Amino acid sequence: MAGTHEVTNQAQPLVDSNLYAGHRALQDALAHQHPGYDRARFQALGAEAGSAEMQAHARLANAFAPVLQTHDLQGRRIDQVEFHPSYHALMSAALRHRLHATPWSERPGGHIERAAAFMLFTGLEPSVLCPVSMSYAVTPALRANGGLQRDWGPGLAATTYDGRFLPYTAKTALTMGMGMTEKQGGSDVRANTTRAEPDGAGAWGQRHRLTGHKWFFSAPMCDAFLVLAQAPGGLSCFFLPRWTAGGEVNRIQIQRLKHKLGNQANASSEVEFQDAEAWLVGDAGRGVSQILAMGALTRLDCALGTAGLMRQALAIALHHCAQRQAFGKPLIAQPLMQSVLADLALESEAATALALRLARAVDRTEHGQDAHGLEAVMRRVLTPVAKFWVCKRGSAFAQEAMECLGGNGYVEADGAGVMARIYREMPVNSIWEGAGNIMALDLLRALRSADVADALMSETADARAASPAVARQAARVTAALDGAADEAGARALARDTALLLQATLLHAHSPAEVFDAFCASRLDAAADVFGLLPARLPLQALIQRAMPAPPTPLETA
Ligand SMILES: Cc1cc2nc3c(=O)[nH]c(=O)nc-3n(C[C@H](O)[C@H](O)[C@H](O)COP(=O)(O)OP(=O)(O)OC[C@H]3O[C@@H](n4cnc5c(N)ncnc54)[C@H](O)[C@@H]3O)c2cc1C
Repeated sequence: MAGTHEVTNQAQPLVDSNLYAGHRALQDALAHQHPGYDRARFQALGAEAGSAEMQAHARLANAFAPVLQTHDLQGRRIDQVEFHPSYHALMSAALRHRLHATPWSERPGGHIERAAAFMLFTGLEPSVLCPVSMSYAVTPALRANGGLQRDWGPGLAATTYDGRFLPYTAKTALTMGMGMTEKQGGSDVRANTTRAEPDGAGAWGQRHRLTGHKWFFSAPMCDAFLVLAQAPGGLSCFFLPRWTAGGEVNRIQIQRLKHKLGNQANASSEVEFQDAEAWLVGDAGRGVSQILAMGALTRLDCALGTAGLMRQALAIALHHCAQRQAFGKPLIAQPLMQSVLADLALESEAATALALRLARAVDRTEHGQDAHGLEAVMRRVLTPVAKFWVCKRGSAFAQEAMECLGGNGYVEADGAGVMARIYREMPVNSIWEGAGNIMALDLLRALRSADVADALMSETADARAASPAVARQAARVTAALDGAADEAGARALARDTALLLQATLLHAHSPAEVFDAFCASRLDAAADVFGLLPARLPLQALIQRAMPAPPTPLETA
């Protein structure tokens, strides 16, 4: 019988492609920022993250969203979230690949490797990385409380994930979250109303009782949280464990889970604290600056995560366009599609470079390798700049990459539509940990606290000498630094600084055609949509560089 429904000219899904082997932009950026990096580590992670098996876990963890159980059958509160087994498989992989709190006890370069690994893993599944990122960010804050550091530090650096709901002493590895945002104010945390009443002293210093709420409280099955609350000494930072030091379930009630646009595998909750046991971390009244220090690290992860998602969307788009024929040839051979794909490849490479440069600044400053103070200034400036610009570009990028797949890009297909998932996920990195305006305003604060002009001149010297376009961009940025008290101009300054530094990095470690194309399309001409690259640029070479690795199934024992 003749077939009525032969499937022809439909692309195969992108699975079993080593995410590292195909990511030349990342390889070059890593080799520049950390020449001695452990290549075998990335080969192994790239193979596992790209494997059909792990991609199936990503689909299932998102398709079967977490479920909140507030009470047991008999009506007792239990406040627990149930996850699909695939969520736990992904968390296990993330901890095994050392994406969480491990760099704090590793050699120099550890933060850079972790950052690159975080980017690669994002190309598998980003939403489980929320607790992973928070665990990374909160760990250094625990140094301000010797008892907590002693008792929790090893578990936070352990790599054998343990998803059970048990006291910390019974678990093989621990994760932590952060609670700042309340209903009446998220960006302006000084508006927090949760109260902390002193309650004597104990295992971990000054004990307090917290009463209040958090309007956003992601990954509530973490083992503990750093939260802000109003103490007698002012807004302070507290360690809030899910189980009390005495081994009882702490009084944290999960009211409901947020029904979100994307980020489905991650449970984001609303919680109330009813005399919950918490421990002061650091000095009373210093909560805002402590939270800002943690926020700076999660902001790094927002830039890394967005760059990782861009790469995933680009790889899928390239893979699709190489297979799909239209009007007599593959989409990837159509000149206008080449302009779109090459443009996306440029954006992805620039985002990767900028995010990894920030990771190097974190690494160098954490390890005291900053004799001239340049890395400290770059860390301070690049945190808001990279978070603002890379995350802002993310949603437009995802939309264009989705369009490369035509109608299939828009379809969910029970989670098999990875592009649709990427599109829904993309905006969150721009919102949480400080939305775009907050980043731009933070850049203005950074300018007041450090001699940024000198640092930028030093950082961009080689690229300025090589390219008049970079020199002109640097002059624009330096002139704007003078009027930098103007809040209304802060976004433009953040964008211009990002473009200057992206060009500088592409000059340092990308092929000449990538640098030239970036300058021609981002500095000489400000394009408002992707795909406006001048035809004289070597579009095919730009595309070829970005192609994902061909499938190689993961060998299993
Ligand atoms: C999925 C998800 C998970 C989250 N998980 C957590 C979590 O685990 N823990 C946690 O603490 N929070 C969490 N958040 C909260 C998140 O960090 C906040 O939503 C974010 O910081 C913004 O705060 P807000 O929602 O109160 O918005 P607002 O502070 O009201 O800001 C609204 C808008 O106003 C802008 N704005 C604010 N001030 C100014 C100004 N002075 N000038 C110009 N513009 C301004 C902001 O840029 C933003 O665009 C989560 C959010 C999401 C979406």
